[in-house]
Amino acid sequence: MSEMVGKKLSPRRAVVDIAACVACGTCEDVCPRGAVTIYQGQYAKVQEERCVGCGKCAQECPASLIKVEVRA
Ligand code: SF4
Ligand code: SF4
Repeated sequence: MSEMVGKKLSPRRAVVDIAACVACGTCEDVCPRGAVTIYQGQYAKVQEERCVGCGKCAQECPASLIKVEVRA
């Protein structure tokens, strides 16, 4: 059954304060879904369709720049 909801977006997602991000890569390393990439070496970018809102990246960001929010 879970296969049937595979394309549905999760209720929550990670949002990065990209202006303050120093592109350390920690969030990319800890994301269990491979949802984060460091865009052009500048900031962390979350792939909406991959993120399940688990909050792991938010817990590990050394600068606390990630928040898990309810999708609009
Ligand atoms: S909330 Fe979870 S799935 Fe989403 S980017 Fe962060 S670690 Fe990855
Ligand atoms: S862990 Fe924080 S500072 Fe490091 S790349 Fe991710 S959002 Fe940016």
